[in-house]
Amino acid sequence: MAEYSAPLRDMKFVIKELAGLSEISTLPGCGEATPDLVDAVLEEAGKFAAGALSPLNKSGDEQGCKLDDGVVTTAAGFKEAYREFIKAGWTSLGGSLQWGGQGLPHIVSGLVSEMWNGANMSFCLCPMLTTGVVNALVRHGSQQQQDTYLHKLIGGEWTGTMNLTEPQAGSDLSAVRTRAVPEGDHYRLFGTKIFITWGEHDMVENIIHLVLARTPDAPEGVKGISLFIVPKYLVAKDGSLGARNDVKCISIEDKLGIHASPTCVIAYGEKDGAIGYLVGEENRGLEYMFTMMNFARLEVGIEGVAIAERAYQRALGYAKERVQGRPVGVRSGERVTIIHHPDVRRMLMTMKAQTEAMRALAATACAALDHAHHHPDRTQRLQWQSVFDLLTPVVKGWCTEQCSEIASLGVQVHGGMGFVEETGAAQHLRDARITSIYEGTTGIQANDLMGRKVAAEKGATAKAVIAQMREFNRQLGASEHPALASIHRSLSAGIDALAEATEWLLATYPSNPAAAGAGAVPYLKLWGTVAGGWQMARAAAIAKQRLDEDAEDFDFYRAKIGTARFFAEHILPHAAAYKAAIVTGSHSTLALEVDQL
Ligand SMILES: Cc1cc2nc3c(=O)[nH]c(=O)nc-3n(C[C@H](O)[C@H](O)[C@H](O)COP(=O)(O)OP(=O)(O)OC[C@H]3O[C@@H](n4cnc5c(N)ncnc54)[C@H](O)[C@@H]3O)c2cc1C
Repeated sequence: MAEYSAPLRDMKFVIKELAGLSEISTLPGCGEATPDLVDAVLEEAGKFAAGALSPLNKSGDEQGCKLDDGVVTTAAGFKEAYREFIKAGWTSLGGSLQWGGQGLPHIVSGLVSEMWNGANMSFCLCPMLTTGVVNALVRHGSQQQQDTYLHKLIGGEWTGTMNLTEPQAGSDLSAVRTRAVPEGDHYRLFGTKIFITWGEHDMVENIIHLVLARTPDAPEGVKGISLFIVPKYLVAKDGSLGARNDVKCISIEDKLGIHASPTCVIAYGEKDGAIGYLVGEENRGLEYMFTMMNFARLEVGIEGVAIAERAYQRALGYAKERVQGRPVGVRSGERVTIIHHPDVRRMLMTMKAQTEAMRALAATACAALDHAHHHPDRTQRLQWQSVFDLLTPVVKGWCTEQCSEIASLGVQVHGGMGFVEETGAAQHLRDARITSIYEGTTGIQANDLMGRKVAAEKGATAKAVIAQMREFNRQLGASEHPALASIHRSLSAGIDALAEATEWLLATYPSNPAAAGAGAVPYLKLWGTVAGGWQMARAAAIAKQRLDEDAEDFDFYRAKIGTARFFAEHILPHAAAYKAAIVTGSHSTLALEVDQL
C-alpha cells in the first residue's frame, strides 16, 4: 500500500506562488534561496524522506525503543538513518551560517520539515528539538556557550532536548520544582523531569538538555524559573567530552503512538547534582524557553500537516484499489473501486482540502517569521513578528486538531482494514493524537491566542489581518468565475463571523474572562478555518490567473480551484457554528455546577 511521497508540486506552489519566495529571497540574508536552489532542496529532501525515513516508520512503530540500565536503544535502522541524515547536511538547513548552518529561510526549512514528519514523525522529533535548542542558544546563550555547543548541534553530532514538564507541572509551569544550587561558575541541579522527548538515546555521543529549574532564593511562580544547559557528558574547553554528568534516564513511557521516539523520565542529581550552566540571567528562564517553544509550536503545527498528508496519501491509494459495490443507483454489472462512491470522494476531498489549507497557513506563518527576522526596516520586522505571534497558536492548535480528524477519516476510508494495524492507517491516527497535547494543549494555545495575542493588544494585529482578508476578498468579488464567486461568498460570511467573534471577545474578556475562556478553543478553530479559507481562496485566485495565462500544469491549477471551492463550500461554513458557540454558547458551557458534570 502507498508509502510516503513528498507532495512536491503543492509545496513548490505554496512556497513560490502563495507565500512569496521571490519577496523573501530579496531580504538580507535570504539571497541563497533562489527558485532553482529551493527546487533542488525540496527534491533531494523528498528522496531522502521517501527512501530513508519512510521505510522505518512502521518498523519503528512496531519495535519502539528499549531501556536497559539508563541506556536507550532505538529501533533498528534509526541510528544508521540519522548518520545519513547528518551526513547529507539536513540538520543544518535553517541554521545560521556563522555556526556552520546553511541559512535557508523558514519557508523552505518548514516545508522540508513537513516531509521528515510525513515520512517518520518519531525520527523527526529528534532534529526538531535540537533546532529548538539551537534557536534558544543563538538568541540567549553567552558567546562561550554558543562556541561550545552550536557547531555540534547544528551539525547534528549532538542532539538537544527541552525539559519543562514535571509530574505536578504540565500546562502550569509555575509549579516547576527542580532545584539549581549555585557552585562556582556553574550550578548543581536536583529534580525529576517527565515526558522528555529523545531525552536519552544511542544515535549520538552527547545530548544537550535545556532544563527549567529554580535557584534557592527564586521568587514563587513563573518569575522564579531559570534556564540551564545540562550536557549528558561535560564538555572540556577544547570541545572534547569529559565526565558523565549526573543525569539519568530512569524510565521510558509505553504510549499510544510515536513509539520510536523515546519519551523519558530523567533524573537530575541522583548523586552529587547534575552540573548545569545558567543561560542568560536568573529568573528569566521561561521567557528564554519561549524562544524554543514558539519555534516548536510552529513545528508541531507542521507535524499536523505532515500526518494529515500521509493519512490522505494512504487513504487515496487504498480507495483506488479496493473493489466494493457498484456505482450508486446501479444494481448489476461490474463492481467498482471505492473511490467511485460519492461518500468516499467526500471523505477524500475533506482530507485533501483541509491538508492543503493547513499547509498554506503554516507556510504563511513561516513567511511571516522570515520577514520578522530579516526585513531591513525595524517597524516592518515588528509588524511581521506580531502576525507570526498571532498565527503561531492558530497553526499549532488548528492544524493538530484537524490532523486527528483527518487521520480518523483515513481510517474510515479503509473500512475495517483501517482498524487493524496491517494497513498503517491506524498508526497515523495514533501518531496524530499527541500533536494537540504536547507543546501546550489546544486549550493552552487557545488561551494564548485569546489573552496574549488578541486581548492584550486590544485586537490590533487580529483586526489588521482581518482587514487584509476583507481587502483580498473584495477584489475576489469582481470575478464572475463560478468557483471564485462561490468562494467569495463563503469567505465573506467566514470573515464576518471572525470579526464579530473578535469584537465579542474584546468586549467580554476584561469583565468576564471565564465566559471568554469557554469560547477560546472555538475561537482558535474559527481563526484556523477562516485563515485557512483565506489562503485557499488566494490559491484559487492565483490558479485562475495561471490558467488564463495558459500556464503549464493545467491539471494542477484546475484541481487547486476545485479543492479551494470544496473548502469554501464544506469547511468554511463551520465558521458560523464556531461563532455561535462563542457569542451565544459560552454561557451554557459553564451553566452546570462542577458536581452536575
Ligand atoms: C509523548 C510526549 C512527549 C512530550 N515531550 C515533552 C518534552 O520533550 N519536554 C517537556 O518538557 N514536556 C514534554 N511533554 C509534556 C507535554 O508538553 C505535557 O503533557 C502537556 O503540556 C500537558 O501537560 P499535562 O500532561 O500535565 O496536562 P495538564 O496540564 O494536566 O492538562 C490536562 C487537561 O487540562 C487542560 N488544562 C490545563 N490547564 C488549563 C488551563 N489553564 N486552561 C484550559 N485548559 C487547561 C489541558 O488542556 C488538558 O486538556 C510530552 C508529553 C508527551 C505525552
